[in-house]
Amino acid sequence: MDEGCKVDRIREKYGLTALDERLRRRRSKKDASLRDLDEYINTRVVEVAMVSAGADPVEGEPSNYLSLLRSDDSISRKEARRELAREGVPVDELKEDFVSYQTVRKHLNECLHVDTSETYTPEPEQDRETIGNLKGRCENVIERTINRLRKHDAVRIGEPRPAVALKVTCGRCGRTHDVAELLRTRECGCACADDESTTARTGLAETENREGDTSK
Ligand SMILES: [Zn+2]
Ligand SMILES: [Zn+2]
Repeated sequence: MDEGCKVDRIREKYGLTALDERLRRRRSKKDASLRDLDEYINTRVVEVAMVSAGADPVEGEPSNYLSLLRSDDSISRKEARRELAREGVPVDELKEDFVSYQTVRKHLNECLHVDTSETYTPEPEQDRETIGNLKGRCENVIERTINRLRKHDAVRIGEPRPAVALKVTCGRCGRTHDVAELLRTRECGCACADDESTTARTGLAETENREGDTSK
């Protein structure tokens, strides 16, 4: 039996009528990656599954569930499963219906005749957004974790307000930058001695010395 394309089946099953149009648009206008598109489809699938179960998902909830269900952290996965099951969502079936980026690629190539051979164009703005989302997800996990522990009195703290700082250190001058800020400014500020660019990070002591030397 020819199973055909999974994206096509999912589109029909979940009534995502404008899906192909949206995939094309995201691909061409926003230069969405295959992973962005698989996330987009699966988020819609979670949303429809929740609505069909009679739930009323708020903005961001389906995508949050999606990342929890796909998380490496088994506790997050279990909790997301439990919460969705409580809403009446058939979680096993839902997970079966998630599409991978490989499936999305096949659908784009074979059904929509969209070329997905990658020609990389730097998109620092988009990368900044991706990293911002990562930070948000990380803060989310911290908040949920602390709250769960609080509930069982295993950790005592007021309402948790997590803050994740993402930093990157320049291997040349040792200066540390906020990642998002670096993607905005696009340079460390020491970027002239390109011949040194192969020098890897050699540890704090040495970079501190070097920083001290710059006064000469
Ligand atoms: Zn297809
Ligand atoms: Zn530098």
